[in-house]
Amino acid sequence: MSESPHLQISSFRRGVHPDEYKNLTCHLSARELPLPDEVFIALHQHIGAPCEALVAKGDQVKTGQKIADSPAHVTSPIHASITGTVVAVADFPHPLGGKVPMIHIKRDGEEDEWEGLSTPDNWETSSKEDLAKLVREAGIVGLGGAAFPTHVKLTPPSNKPIDHFILNGCECEPFLTCDHRNMLEQTDHILMGMAITMRILGVEQGIVGIEANKADAIAAMEARVKALHLNFKVQPLKVKYPQGAEKMLIDAALGRKVPAGGLPMDVGVVVNNIATALAVYEAVVEGKPLIQRMLTVTGDAIQKPGNLIVRIGTPFQVCVDACGGLKEATSQVFMGGPMMGLVQYDFQVPTLKATSGIVCMESSQLTSMRHYPCIQCGACVSVCPMNLVPTRLSRLAETGKYADCKEWGLFNCIECGSCAFVCPSGIPLVQWIRVGKVKATEQQKKLKAQA
Ligand code: SF4
Ligand code: SF4
Repeated sequence: MSESPHLQISSFRRGVHPDEYKNLTCHLSARELPLPDEVFIALHQHIGAPCEALVAKGDQVKTGQKIADSPAHVTSPIHASITGTVVAVADFPHPLGGKVPMIHIKRDGEEDEWEGLSTPDNWETSSKEDLAKLVREAGIVGLGGAAFPTHVKLTPPSNKPIDHFILNGCECEPFLTCDHRNMLEQTDHILMGMAITMRILGVEQGIVGIEANKADAIAAMEARVKALHLNFKVQPLKVKYPQGAEKMLIDAALGRKVPAGGLPMDVGVVVNNIATALAVYEAVVEGKPLIQRMLTVTGDAIQKPGNLIVRIGTPFQVCVDACGGLKEATSQVFMGGPMMGLVQYDFQVPTLKATSGIVCMESSQLTSMRHYPCIQCGACVSVCPMNLVPTRLSRLAETGKYADCKEWGLFNCIECGSCAFVCPSGIPLVQWIRVGKVKATEQQKKLKAQA
């Protein structure tokens, strides 16, 4: 993929330029996988409170039926992704590690029997509140990887007025191409999802931010925006990692800086991913809850890389087999891209709502696993888009000084991995920072409980 020389492009300060490896799949249309024989649907696959199962072993469920929910505000309900029988509600391996409660469904029959959402006759005249409720009932979360419940983002408090909505089409992670394919294959539905989202937010200004290496997607979006008479701006962005991180995107597209510890709504902006906008369209117009998504199965260790449309809860093994399986030299598998993704050890884990890719790499694509002492070169500091000192944060986390970590801005880290990517000593900086966040949060909870 190459950048168009005619585009006026924007960006943020710092960041890195990892090899893209997107040519493996960016030209391949999405393939819909046949219905899986079984799915394992995790009760916790979003930020916020986990859901409680609404079904039990032996229950028959229809595709789209709500099978788990929670009374909490920050949560998102979960739906059956196939028609079948619940064979267990039990702990199974999860892509984030360990075992967590899941609903195990075995398919009955060859076709879906649907239980959809009831949709408005005309969303343009529906109330914002009804549309936001529908987004919640559809179980929509941020599909770029964050999995934050979308209905919460779309109902900001009244003291946080929103004036811009940005649709995030950056897809800056190496290897991943599902957003790119969606922009080419689902252009109108994505734009309609964006219009519905903007109606809920009550904003007039909409920007579609796309990295300049996706010239065909930029052209497709621009053409359809014009043809549909939409008042959206398509904004090409510099090819730089992590351009798709919300704070970097807002800086690049609008020149607004989200304050340390703040949220996009603090500067009047809401950002959603391409696939999230598509899910909003499918829920509000077609009555479909979030039961499937497109993901990229790729890497040099995959026989036939591709973009697949899969039901949520489909085991990784099924997705990998659909792409011809693994080559012998596979060394590492990630859920998501190699910069922010999580290493996987068990192919029985299920796809989650936020699974944007399964990346399988040969040893030649991996940097050495050996770590050397810090040579104080400052490279990690010079690329950190959040102006942090990653070497210091990592060292403090490694030595258990979590309170000091917080002083050094631990929770401002967006875990983009740029620091680890450039470190000549191969220090797993972001991994230590993640450990620091978990431990500092535990420490905070303990102190609260003792108070
Ligand atoms: S410290 Fe955090 S935000 Fe900064 S480069 Fe490393 S991972 Fe990214
Ligand atoms: S990039 Fe690595 S070696 Fe250089 S200062 Fe940062 S931690 Fe140390």
